[in-house]
Amino acid sequence: MVLGLRMDRKIKRQPSGDSYDRDVPDSIRARVRLPNAGSCGNHHYVVAQGDLSLRQAKHLGFDTTGSGCEAIGDVGDAHGVTVRHVSNNARVRTLIFCHAHPDDEALLTAGTMAKAVAAGHRVVLVMATDGAAGLASSTIDDLAATRERELATSAEILGLHRVVNLGYTDSGLDGAAEHGFATAPTEEVAEQIAQVIFDEKAEIVVGYDPSGGYGHPDHLHIHRVTRAAAQATGTQLFEATLPREPIARALHAAARLRLTPPDFDPHEFDSAWTPRADITHRVNVRKHIHAKRASQAAHASQASADDGVRTLQVLAKLPSSLARLVLGTEFYVEVNNSTTEAARPSAL
Ligand SMILES: [Zn+2]
Repeated sequence: MVLGLRMDRKIKRQPSGDSYDRDVPDSIRARVRLPNAGSCGNHHYVVAQGDLSLRQAKHLGFDTTGSGCEAIGDVGDAHGVTVRHVSNNARVRTLIFCHAHPDDEALLTAGTMAKAVAAGHRVVLVMATDGAAGLASSTIDDLAATRERELATSAEILGLHRVVNLGYTDSGLDGAAEHGFATAPTEEVAEQIAQVIFDEKAEIVVGYDPSGGYGHPDHLHIHRVTRAAAQATGTQLFEATLPREPIARALHAAARLRLTPPDFDPHEFDSAWTPRADITHRVNVRKHIHAKRASQAAHASQASADDGVRTLQVLAKLPSSLARLVLGTEFYVEVNNSTTEAARPSAL
């Protein structure tokens, strides 16, 4: 038992591996973390219920500055303390998601992030650019500042523990922006991501597939820099993607029905994303659709435009049954398999 004897009769010991998620209070006001998850034997994760302040947590022997195990205290209800023992494959992990533009996290990985947070893991978002070259209504004055605010709201909705803004310039869809992110040296960006991985002792890092999704130059660069950072640090790498074939089929059909702009060529998407057969992980995020849609709604500037229709606009209008279908699964390719089954996001 890793906790001090001071807790004596207040501790209700639970059998190893039992889940007490249902007992976690809705309003969590204090979060403290235990050091060295790996050194805690089987007792990796601790949920303390009751009147537990940060100071009390220290009395219990927690180091509130260390990383690893996590204790959650709910202020306001003093019913003693429940200690949760979980096995190694359910212990707290840190996951880092790298994205190119504010709103990419909402479109591609929001459900997985919310799911990981709900499971008690630490989730960090690295955002490469300010998104200032994104399409948006010309009535928005300072698009970079607007998108930063939208990102902060999205992060709060998803419960992310930390957002690291790298602050690069959005390259724009044609890559024309001067000093755009896509032109930043791979090693320079990879080094910054590696530093976050190191600081966070992260076990999983998520980037983009080799197609950069639909091929935006900043998305392609996220693919390169995240791979480089994962390789340099030996971190388990997953690449977020979508299944190529159904998207291509839908776009060809839409073009045939003239639902797309006249200059739209659906063949451009024939090699976008990832062939279905190469996808290694499908994460069911249906329970987190609400958070995912709220995160998408937070990026209101990206549902605005002077002309044309935006993806977020279309998604926002989906009835909930269709949204569950379209947004209910998120897709990843595991790039190396040097770690154990337990380290995979699907284990969440
Ligand atoms: Zn993007």
